Amino acid sequence: MAQTFKAILVSRDDDKNQHVDIAELTDAELMEGDVTVAVEATTVNYKDGLAITGKSPVVRRWPMIPGIDFAGTVAASEHPDWKEGDKVILNGWGVGETHYGAYAGLARVNGDWLIALPDALTPHQAMAIGTAGYTAMLSVLALERHGITPERGPAIVTGANGGVGTVAISVLSKLGYEVIASTGRTSESAFLTSLGASEIIDRAELSEPGRPLGKERWASGVDSVGSVTLANVLAQTMQGGAIAACGLAQGMDLPTTVAPFILRGVSLLGIDSVMAPRALREQAWARLVEDLDMVKLEALSRTIGFGEIIDTAHAILEGRVRGRVVVDMA
Ligand code: NDP
Repeated sequence: MAQTFKAILVSRDDDKNQHVDIAELTDAELMEGDVTVAVEATTVNYKDGLAITGKSPVVRRWPMIPGIDFAGTVAASEHPDWKEGDKVILNGWGVGETHYGAYAGLARVNGDWLIALPDALTPHQAMAIGTAGYTAMLSVLALERHGITPERGPAIVTGANGGVGTVAISVLSKLGYEVIASTGRTSESAFLTSLGASEIIDRAELSEPGRPLGKERWASGVDSVGSVTLANVLAQTMQGGAIAACGLAQGMDLPTTVAPFILRGVSLLGIDSVMAPRALREQAWARLVEDLDMVKLEALSRTIGFGEIIDTAHAILEGRVRGRVVVDMA
């Protein structure tokens, strides 16, 4: 018998106006894939906010079930790596963009896209981390591959109160970095300090066009903001330092000069979580188990129900979400 479940469905009318509805679907309506997963937890990332509000062209196939990440249990599998009952995580691969995503009771995907849920994590914890937290760890791994260590000097984290930012602060501080947190919400300084930030700066210091080179203030950083902020971060990076760029909360542009690169040997490291190879994903999740304090994870995340996803999608784009939001699908 067909299984029915609730899903968020984003569609477009003939005039290309976007509509967001809650629909009742059957498993027969899911897209092609060799593994069907009962979604236990998902989350609201910045990109999900873009998809649901239609503010950026994240959705590229209509209609679409948004939701770029989930954790759950395999309900059926024709893939050699997975069997019924396995606990799995999915991040990216176009899920929620071109392939039906996480905001549904069931998801059917390509088994190559899944990784095993680490034994140490519950589906809920994995989604408290979510794509934002996994991206923060990909950023840290990129800095390490570049030879960055805490001894080199402080690390800056921009978009500090966001999902990437809060996890990046927590991980970097556990690894021994002195963390400088840049935020528009300095009222949250006590929270950021509790995660491990040792200095809080107002993001206004970095969000207006500045000089090609400034005082050397940090040796490395995780930037989820892009645009003028990233240009200023690069201009104030120490000789031989590196910045991992993963986001665009301020904008997609990057109005920089080559000065930081050719006069200070600064490196800009690009981070793409969507198409990251499986081995790197597994490494990132294993390191999250090791280097992310679960007490801090609890403090930086809160839980909502399926019915609150749409409102939260709007809130995240308006900068009203602190840390991470987990959606409990049970
Ligand atoms: P959040 O909305 O949770 O965090 C973004 C933070 O950026 C906000 O909390 C805010 O922090 C800051 N911010 C928002 N607007 C502005 C602005 N206009 N100028 C300066 N700062 C601003 O989003 P996520 O953490 O989920 O994602 C962060 C970014 O990373 C997004 O752009 C997202 O698309 C990108 N991303 C990229 C991935 C990849 O694969 N490369 C994967 C995951 C995310 P505060 O209030 O502290 O200033």
